[in-house]
Amino acid sequence: MNLYGSVTYGKETIGFYLLYVERKTLEISVHPDGSVIVKAPAGTPFVEAEKKVARRAGWIRKQLEYFRQFNPRTPERHYVGGESHLYLGRQYRLQISRGDLEGVNLSGGFFQITVKDDASAAKVKTLLQRWYVNKAGEKFRESLECCWPVFERFSTTRPRLQIRRMQKRWGSLSRSGLLTLNTELIRAPRGCIDYVITHELCHLQCHDHGPDFYRLLESVMPDWEKRKHKLELALI
Ligand SMILES: [Zn+2]
Repeated sequence: MNLYGSVTYGKETIGFYLLYVERKTLEISVHPDGSVIVKAPAGTPFVEAEKKVARRAGWIRKQLEYFRQFNPRTPERHYVGGESHLYLGRQYRLQISRGDLEGVNLSGGFFQITVKDDASAAKVKTLLQRWYVNKAGEKFRESLECCWPVFERFSTTRPRLQIRRMQKRWGSLSRSGLLTLNTELIRAPRGCIDYVITHELCHLQCHDHGPDFYRLLESVMPDWEKRKHKLELALI
């Protein structure tokens, strides 16, 4: 069965994804990344979802326009004092000072960055990114620890964790059992990191994004959609 559909509204084509879940009525949600998800009770004919999307097309388009105004999603960073940077979903301002011991310290709402003599943006960026990589290693491991127990019953081997910068994805899982997470994810709230890890762990059972995948995701993390939404908004 084709679970992807689209509806034409004026000059625009609205693509949507139909998801069968345990609920009594149809519900449409629009996500900051531009995806439209229709949740429907099992057995709902596809045409019903199409009709619902067509009826709500005006509202959907407004939502999409609202999210579009935030593009480009990541403003250019300058790595100068006073600029805000995210860590676990919270904003911290950069405070740059000189000292003998180079490094980054998170304290009192600030990223206190100590540089020896080179206070250039490039130097500050290098120090901050190194700090992020270290924290990512630590926090992602903790998250994996929390998310793993519900998957243990499938008697699969726990994936190895790899962290690196990725251009377009938050995470991926290879068939050989390597879970790769994007370093940038350390800027997102914990609940969102758990969501990305749980999503990837579901791929141990279902390799694609078919109905079985979403059924599993719903069962192990019923509020996944909220977390996905939050993630997309947090890192704009
Ligand atoms: Zn996936």
